Amino acid sequence: GGRDGLGAYITNPESYPSDIVISHNADFVAIHDMFPKSSLHLLLLPRDQTKTHLHPFEAFEDPEFLAKVRFEAQKLRSFAAAELRRKYGKYSMQEQERQIALSADPPPDELPVGRDWEKELMCGIHAVPSMNHLHVHVIAVDRYSDRLKHRKHYNSFATPFFVPLDDFPLAQSDPRREPTRQNYLKAEFTCWRCGKKFGNRFVELKSHLEQEFLEWRKL
Ligand code: 5GP
Ligand code: ZN
Repeated sequence: GGRDGLGAYITNPESYPSDIVISHNADFVAIHDMFPKSSLHLLLLPRDQTKTHLHPFEAFEDPEFLAKVRFEAQKLRSFAAAELRRKYGKYSMQEQERQIALSADPPPDELPVGRDWEKELMCGIHAVPSMNHLHVHVIAVDRYSDRLKHRKHYNSFATPFFVPLDDFPLAQSDPRREPTRQNYLKAEFTCWRCGKKFGNRFVELKSHLEQEFLEWRKL
């Protein structure tokens, strides 16, 4: 439990049901975040014992390791995109099957591809992680969740406190290396989608996030 709570997934991934541990291999474990801050929130846990206790900035200084993590994160992102398509997609498998069943004509060779759900996912780390074991977030952009209860929950995914995996390696002068000095978590609330400012008004932000979620998911 506590700050070491992610360790058990790394040592014993096979002891969890598939609604918690999504997949595992010798080097990585993919899990569902227990307190999701979006409609879909997954974590990728590298199992390398020489990396798991390092700060992500330090762990990702190793270009070979960074490349491995990127590769695995991309796989998890594709999985997450398929999940979003299943949940919200215009052309869910069910809908595709229904259309085919309804149609007297033979099914078309190519079904409509629909929306690129991979674009609706963010992949990265927190500049100051709260959990001890190295982990990468793969999270839907909506920030719509009952578990998003505090300023820090929102701002940690909606400011430069969230560092995309694509931004590594960070320059020595990158301001995100000094996240506390930047006060990212205390920033004014800004809607991730439309940029509207909410000051300190968390309740208003939350209701706006719901409106944005409803639009986002159907677009
Ligand atoms: P951090 O802020 O350290 O980057 O994020 C840690 C993440 O781990 C948070 O999103 C939090 O909800 C999640 N988390 C904390 N404890 C547990 C746990 O025991 N199991 C799972 N699956 N996720 C956890
Ligand atoms: Zn907005």
